[in-house]
Amino acid sequence: MEDTEPKKGLNRRQFLKVSGAARAAVGTVGLGLFGYQSGKDPSSYTGEESFQGAVEQFGRDKYSVHIPTYEIVGKTSRIDARTDVVFSRFPNLMRNWDDEKGLESLDENMQAYYRKYPEVLKDDLYAKNEIFPKRRADNKKFQDQFVLAEAWSHAMGAVWPEGLNEPPEISDFPKPDRSGKTKEPYALKSHELTAKLIKTMSYQFGSAVVGITKLNPDWVYKYPMRNRGLDTDTPLEVPKHWEYAIVVATPMSWDPLYANPNYGTSHDAYAKSRIVAYRLAEFIKQLGYAARPHTPGTEYDLMVPPIAIDAGIGEQGRHSVLITPEMGSNLRPAVVTTNIPMACDKPIDFGVQDFCATCKICAESCPSGAITFGEKKEIRGYKRYELDTPKCHNFWYSNLGNIGCRICVAVCPYTRKSNWMHRAALDITANDPTGLSHTALTEMQKKFYPGPDAQDYYMPSLGGKNASFREPPWWLKSEDFIDFNG
Ligand code: SF4
Ligand code: SF4
Repeated sequence: MEDTEPKKGLNRRQFLKVSGAARAAVGTVGLGLFGYQSGKDPSSYTGEESFQGAVEQFGRDKYSVHIPTYEIVGKTSRIDARTDVVFSRFPNLMRNWDDEKGLESLDENMQAYYRKYPEVLKDDLYAKNEIFPKRRADNKKFQDQFVLAEAWSHAMGAVWPEGLNEPPEISDFPKPDRSGKTKEPYALKSHELTAKLIKTMSYQFGSAVVGITKLNPDWVYKYPMRNRGLDTDTPLEVPKHWEYAIVVATPMSWDPLYANPNYGTSHDAYAKSRIVAYRLAEFIKQLGYAARPHTPGTEYDLMVPPIAIDAGIGEQGRHSVLITPEMGSNLRPAVVTTNIPMACDKPIDFGVQDFCATCKICAESCPSGAITFGEKKEIRGYKRYELDTPKCHNFWYSNLGNIGCRICVAVCPYTRKSNWMHRAALDITANDPTGLSHTALTEMQKKFYPGPDAQDYYMPSLGGKNASFREPPWWLKSEDFIDFNG
């Protein structure tokens, strides 16, 4: 519609173009000046107070004393976990107590303990005979109020999803309770409220970002990748209950990430995202709906990056990895497929496609040559940058330290901790129609974060120097802690 508006002065699009370009020019110069100052000081390269991560929040040294503040006033003894610890003693009582036999119904240790501490027996029997029956009765009357709290608590304790080795028709659904009854799905008030709840819970469970989308069946593998209750030689029919996909993600530890490839690891974020997805799947099942976690490293049956794009988490970069506004490419995502009805997010466009067209830092830094300098091409019907995965995979074993490589993630200008400077740069690049700021910021990145020659990342026997993009954090310098001559 804007193009048909009468041409009096600037129309809206022209105005946005001009003001975007002006903003880009002023902003880039400002960031350049600030960036030059901060770029000189390695400790401020993330724009944060400390590049070593969290700082101790309380000065304990000032308060250190020679003797602990508990007092020894008699003969000390160790704890007998069978009786002194209520979590062993009480279940024992619940299992074995017989009103007629009294103390005689218990084993010798328990008898001896309760004889020594009769007031504890009184308290334990009060819990067994009074509190527990009343709790069961009250629970029936008032439990609705605490459905979410209980689901959240169960989910927090989920370390491995029950039955994940069974096919989705079984493993994804809530298990019957002891009486054989299966939980009916709770009726939910609105799609929007459910999405809000799911997102808040995802953050509670440890996710840094979360997005929701309808699952496009094109992103599900034709054959399953791993066992997980599915036959890898039988085509995978997309289960009907994989209606929605919730994408969660956590970042890798920042300082080792910048010291890739030798000192970084994907496993920290793999494990964190896995736990978030397990917890989220458990939470959804507690509400009576189906849910299946798809988690890194390789426990999934679908392609995560395009689902994350659909869910508005970010865009795909030249290096094929997802780029988010908050963490750049420093994230490891997981997906939960589910049938809980929710409002979905929209994809986002914050300028990555234009930026990647000219940047190419990842391609220049990639030791294996897996990242293209060229244009996008058609792959399985979609236009994208091609990644030469065998070359990339071979490099994983061509450097020492931790297996793998994340150099393209570390060098990407978007991979910066979220701070005001990062956010300002994002805003400029996303709104710059001229592309001038892209070139300027790419040059800044190269100037302030120079890396070794790509060949130097290889291990020495392959002509390299065991190089890392940046210095490792002090706590990963083996030579400073271990006496290799000792
Ligand atoms: S992970 Fe390493 S080898 Fe693979 S594409 Fe990225 S930079 Fe290249
Ligand atoms: S390094 Fe540059 S070209 Fe590569 S993904 Fe990041 S922004 Fe795109």
